Amino acid sequence: MTLRSVDAMHRTEMHSAETRICHFPGCDRPPVPTTGGGQRNEYCEDPQHTPLKAYRARKKLQDKAARQAAKQPQPVTRPVTQAAGDMASLFHRVAEMRDELLATFEEIGTRAAVVTDPAMITAEIEAIKRDAEIQIAEAEAARLAAERRALAAEQTRDEALAERDEATAAAEEAIAELDAREQQLTEMTADRDRIVHESRNALHQLREETGAEIQAREHAEAERDKARLGETAALQKLDDLHVQHEAKLHALLSGQQITGEALNGDSPKDDGR
Ligand SMILES: [Zn+2]
Repeated sequence: MTLRSVDAMHRTEMHSAETRICHFPGCDRPPVPTTGGGQRNEYCEDPQHTPLKAYRARKKLQDKAARQAAKQPQPVTRPVTQAAGDMASLFHRVAEMRDELLATFEEIGTRAAVVTDPAMITAEIEAIKRDAEIQIAEAEAARLAAERRALAAEQTRDEALAERDEATAAAEEAIAELDAREQQLTEMTADRDRIVHESRNALHQLREETGAEIQAREHAEAERDKARLGETAALQKLDDLHVQHEAKLHALLSGQQITGEALNGDSPKDDGR
């Protein structure tokens, strides 16, 4: 019995079954139908049920069985039969290993098809380029936004500084104006005080002058009255004297007449007559 014949026997057994099942150990679901006319699909839709994983699962079961068999060594009574049985199981393992290799190559093939597909390579390169371009554009946008923010902050700071300068200038101007007003007020107060003082002085002087004038007038009036009085007295005196003279003359004339009568009217005073 050759390796090929064992494999053929194994395949015949599998294919003869009415309903095909998944090759994964312990799985009884139907394999996924083959499409595109390639190699037959032997496994169900479970993603864990792949040729490689099935091989490992089988290997694990076989190792376990082998260990159990080794634990209970049986006396060899029929060496030929025993050796033939061993050979059959070894050929079975070889067939399985071949299936395993074929499955692995199949998987390599599907991946190689992807890796070597020019359209897919181009598409992936384009996608990578697009991603890179998007990242570059995003970085550029972020940089521009940061620059804008920095510029805005700078502008805000400049505006704040300008406003501060303006406020300082306005405050200085207001202080200067206040000083000027204060100076003006001081001058006005001094002027007012001076005017009040001068007015008082003028009033005082006026009063004094008026008083002196009144006094002088009164004095003059008194002098005038006195003079009038003197004049009246003098006139009176003159009148009195006149009267006296008249009286004397009269008396004299009367006496002369008497004397003249006595002395024949001889009188030196009448020489001029
Ligand atoms: Zn399965």
